[in-house]
Amino acid sequence: MGASLVSFSVRKYHSITQKGRPVAKPKILISACLLGRPVRYNGSAKPVLHPALSAWQKAGQLVMICPEVTAGFSTPRPPAEITHGQSGEAVLANTARVQDTTGADVTAQFLTGAKAALALAQEHNCQFAILTDASPSCGSTHIYDGTFQGKKHPGTGVTTALLRANGVQVFAETEIDVLWSPLSKNYMTS
Ligand code: SF4
Repeated sequence: MGASLVSFSVRKYHSITQKGRPVAKPKILISACLLGRPVRYNGSAKPVLHPALSAWQKAGQLVMICPEVTAGFSTPRPPAEITHGQSGEAVLANTARVQDTTGADVTAQFLTGAKAALALAQEHNCQFAILTDASPSCGSTHIYDGTFQGKKHPGTGVTTALLRANGVQVFAETEIDVLWSPLSKNYMTS
């Protein structure tokens, strides 16, 4: 998502809330590993320290999920990538697969995790998500290219693709400031 589109969308959200009585603080879907949960394929977390996350967490605005663990994967698990330099949108269109390093086709599980994340986002009315970039589930600006050689290319994970297809604005962990600044100024306090 380009910066201009992000800015426009956030402004639009605020113009809606400011027309009449402001709505409650927005909920934000977030990758569990960014909040320090050790759920990544290798059993690690990917914690991010940012004042926005602390503030949103304190205010009860964060809705945490790990799509892969929710889909039933164990931790640790073999790393997986979307094959042939494809992206999450192609997986949703059934024109690309997700495969792990054992050669197993794990596409169905990745779709299950994506649907669970979307259901949770909709249950909590999350219009925004902050997800871990480069993941075959959560990537939003780039992902690995399917060769398991550490090469990335522009693309999205399966969960990100499904969320975006359903109107959720997805940000990488490196883009928290883009969301933090406008949201912190405009939403109502409870
Ligand atoms: S699926 Fe998403 S939340 Fe789960 S470990 Fe991978 S990047 Fe983190």
